[in-house]
Amino acid sequence: MIFYHEHLPYSVVFEENIIAEMLELCKEKMPLETGGILIGKYSEDGTKAIVRKNTGPPQDSKHGSHSFYRGIKDLALLLSNLWSSTGEFYLGEWHFHPNSWPIPSLTDKKQMKMIANDTRYHCPEPILYIIGGNPFAQWNSSCHVFLERESIKLIEDI
Ligand SMILES: [Zn+2]
Repeated sequence: MIFYHEHLPYSVVFEENIIAEMLELCKEKMPLETGGILIGKYSEDGTKAIVRKNTGPPQDSKHGSHSFYRGIKDLALLLSNLWSSTGEFYLGEWHFHPNSWPIPSLTDKKQMKMIANDTRYHCPEPILYIIGGNPFAQWNSSCHVFLERESIKLIEDI
């Protein structure tokens, strides 16, 4: 699955199985929100993010029907192991809006800006992928990239 922008050089490629894995995690938690992080690499010219892995919710996450706090337990260790073994790193977040649209909330936008500005993430342009609706029946998704001042919505390439 590929998301791109019509005018700006930003695109996100989800490798096979990633979306299916996230959908399974949504099914497990339905009707509660859930999520995790996206891991992968950038293309050499830096314009394309390639998502190769995702995590589910860390153990200390909190799931509500209209809220999700993504915990941090064991993530730093996982990321440092991946960095030294495969060179892959943190690219952004994903989460689930059960029975709702995959539109970033104000809280989502604030959190992504915090991540963009937090030097511990080493990720000044994080991605947010949201799955909305019902993962058992009809669902849809969105992909945004958060830049310094704004977020841009990417278009799904079908
Ligand atoms: Zn959200």
